[in-house]
Amino acid sequence: MFFEPSAELKQFLETVRKFVEKECYPVEMEIEEKGEIPENIYKGLCQLGLFGVTTPTEYGGLGLSILDYCLILMELSKTNAAVRAQITTNNGIGCKGILFDGTEEQKKKYLPSLASGEKMASFALTEPGAGSDAAAISTTAVKNGNDWVINGTKYFITNAPRASVFTVLALTDKEKRARGGITAFIVEKGTPGLTIGKIFKAMGNVGSKPAEVIFENCRVPEGNIIGGPKMVGQGFRTAMKCLNEGRLTLSASMIGFAERALKLARDYAKIRVQFGKPIAENQAIQWMLADSATDIYASKCMLIDAASCFDAGQKVDALCSMTKVFASEMLCRVTDRSLQIHGGTGYIKEAPIEHLYRDARMFRIVEGTSEIQRMIIARDVLKD
Ligand SMILES: Cc1cc2nc3c(=O)[nH]c(=O)nc-3n(C[C@H](O)[C@H](O)[C@H](O)COP(=O)(O)OP(=O)(O)OC[C@H]3O[C@@H](n4cnc5c(N)ncnc54)[C@H](O)[C@@H]3O)c2cc1C
Repeated sequence: MFFEPSAELKQFLETVRKFVEKECYPVEMEIEEKGEIPENIYKGLCQLGLFGVTTPTEYGGLGLSILDYCLILMELSKTNAAVRAQITTNNGIGCKGILFDGTEEQKKKYLPSLASGEKMASFALTEPGAGSDAAAISTTAVKNGNDWVINGTKYFITNAPRASVFTVLALTDKEKRARGGITAFIVEKGTPGLTIGKIFKAMGNVGSKPAEVIFENCRVPEGNIIGGPKMVGQGFRTAMKCLNEGRLTLSASMIGFAERALKLARDYAKIRVQFGKPIAENQAIQWMLADSATDIYASKCMLIDAASCFDAGQKVDALCSMTKVFASEMLCRVTDRSLQIHGGTGYIKEAPIEHLYRDARMFRIVEGTSEIQRMIIARDVLKD
């Protein structure tokens, strides 16, 4: 497969690459230690327009395709996972529900400030009792006059403490559930009855602050149903569309991490001398590097193809799942080999491969575990 980005995009990719190397690399350890994304990184992401890469220009975004966005993410994801999580949650599952299914009024009201980075959106689906089985949610929304009253607890919601806008999935018909009984709402920070609960300390992705979001008699107007009253009960479909696209953009991030891990391993193997020669001269090390390079190439081919099909409007559910399951497992293999090549040095906190190794593990779980991706793929394979 031959693929060449446009000259303009190549220039933009170079700008993102420089931003990562000049601004992000020096604060990698600080992010890991403090669990906070420094304000200058956040501002830099805003200045680059990265909060609205795929948001159409009429709503203040860059209006780029998913494939272009994936290429950008490959560059941005060569540093701490939480840096790209600032923009991917927002660009993706956080605000895509509004973009895909929102009314024109909702798009005009919310998308410009989300695309500029002035505000951030989070996606609240998972609950303590509903992870892979997302249709098992128990958060309810009950109609009361012209409002809806939301009650329930969401769990592991990325960037929740920083978010100004939440896409919230709630049960509006307990019998119908995924088939017409779940509705997507826009809930703004500061709405009475919405509070942020526990902020979880995760193994990796440090700084993305997955948290509980609690709704206690949280009242929102009917106008906050994504797509308006005609979309009552249609929220599960909206959520699945967001997650489908998210599987491609997540895969792009994984490829970026893997490329960084391979580069770290290669550079270290060339300078680390044992038995009187650089360890890179041993076939055992060379084969690990070769396997990682091959793994990354395979993932890239899958992603470029799947993202191109997505942009062309084809039905790509299975392709998105194949790309995600392969890329997430590829990333774990590549970071594991890279750490092995680093020896003890790679196991020490100051080594970037140490956090890349921890960050990598998350991707086999979030936005649909590997098992769930395989269920989706198998469903496609088995259909007549
Ligand atoms: C860091 C982090 C950030 C997150 N951010 C968000 C967010 O922003 N918004 C949001 O809504 N959610 C978020 N999540 C939640 C995430 O999407 C869920 O953790 C994920 O979907 C898995 O759900 P679970 O953790 O409840 O695992 P479970 O569903 O309990 O699964 C446990 C295990 O059982 C397996 N399993 C379950 N069902 C089956 C089956 N039928 N067949 C075979 N195996 C099965 C799973 O694959 C897994 O291995 C986040 C999670 C993490 C860790």
